[in-house]
Amino acid sequence: MHPVVAKYIVYRTIETCRGEKVSATLDRIRKIPFLPPGEIKKLQREKLTRILQNAEKNIPYYRQTFKAHGIQVERLDLPQDLTKLPILSKETIRERPREFIDPTNKSRTSEEVTSGTSGRPLVVIKDRQKSACIRAVMFRCYEHYGVTIGNKQVRFWGIPAKRRDRRREQLKDILANRIRISAFDLNNRCMPGYLEEIRKFKPDYFYGYPCVLKQFSEWIQEKNLSLDGIHPRVIITTGEILYPLQREIIAKTFQCPVANEYGTTENGVVAFECCCGNMHIMADHLYVESIPLSHSNGSGKLLITELNNFYNPLIRYDIGDTGMLSDKPCKCGIRFPILTALQGRDSSFIITPENTHVNDGILEYILRKGVVKFQGFQRDKNHLHIKIVKNDDLTAELMQEYKRELHRHLGERIKIEFKFVREIAREPSGKFRYFITELI
Ligand SMILES: [Zn+2]
Repeated sequence: MHPVVAKYIVYRTIETCRGEKVSATLDRIRKIPFLPPGEIKKLQREKLTRILQNAEKNIPYYRQTFKAHGIQVERLDLPQDLTKLPILSKETIRERPREFIDPTNKSRTSEEVTSGTSGRPLVVIKDRQKSACIRAVMFRCYEHYGVTIGNKQVRFWGIPAKRRDRRREQLKDILANRIRISAFDLNNRCMPGYLEEIRKFKPDYFYGYPCVLKQFSEWIQEKNLSLDGIHPRVIITTGEILYPLQREIIAKTFQCPVANEYGTTENGVVAFECCCGNMHIMADHLYVESIPLSHSNGSGKLLITELNNFYNPLIRYDIGDTGMLSDKPCKCGIRFPILTALQGRDSSFIITPENTHVNDGILEYILRKGVVKFQGFQRDKNHLHIKIVKNDDLTAELMQEYKRELHRHLGERIKIEFKFVREIAREPSGKFRYFITELI
């Protein structure tokens, strides 16, 4: 689809139908990153105050919690006094999700399931205002590299296991003017077809997991293939740490900048890499704190407070990653603070007897209903062990289906063994890993 048609006809129609004002929000926020730091801080303070006041007045969880801690929002000196509020964990939201919703707010909503690194999915409810802000902030980041709404995207991503979910994603891909390359089926047999598909599509940019993009780039380099007709303006990596070697190979292969995105399903883009290589925090969208940890040298636990979500705001939300914040100026002109030393989002590969590397995110795509928690383990290529903490929804039929789906992606030769357990231990660092391998 031509990007102009995609932007002005298709996207605008979707916005109107969904009641999600992405384009108007983008126009409103486009210049904020370039404001003087004092104005950005003032804007943050005002937004924080409004979010907390609404939470105190209308949202059951916060009303009770603030009261229990003797907190009155009007007496807080923000943002410093935010530290007086308790930290919010994923477990708390999972246990009592309805208590985070403002019952006076009758917005239309949609639900998404996190596919992060926790090994335990979380249902995220977003109203249209939050969704519009998340998308507008995302496009503002991409515009830094000359990419905007309607531009053609190649997405190296997961493909849902269930047919109905797959169809819904296919429709979304068409409307968003993108094609999807399965991160789970990237092997030497499929790659020539993918390259041809990309060549015909003529994308403006790529988006995906760095390990998958690196794998695809290496294959192109090894085979010494021509990239005629493929000239992306930028390659955006997400979901995992982008290592220097990965960046080097991807940039060299596609001859364009590689920009790292740090985001979550819950909050959208948290920080995005500018042309000078710095990860700028989206300070008008989220207030980010870094709480020092005793055993680290300056790096701290990252807490997020949402500034544009009145419906069900997350306040001091522990996203499970660590990093450092810096106010040093950047030559790119963006005045938002910088996030450094980001850690905690590693992923890996399951290796099959045929030596195919399959991104470990496949486990989270397949093991859903009835699975409270899981952890995969691989010591040799012929075996994959998966521990599962289950609930009553997990039937024998579902287990058969999960096994079938896993074999579909990993081949028939690998032996997959499930073991039901009561609990799965965390790492000594406190982090939960949903896949552990001794092969890489
Ligand atoms: Zn910058």
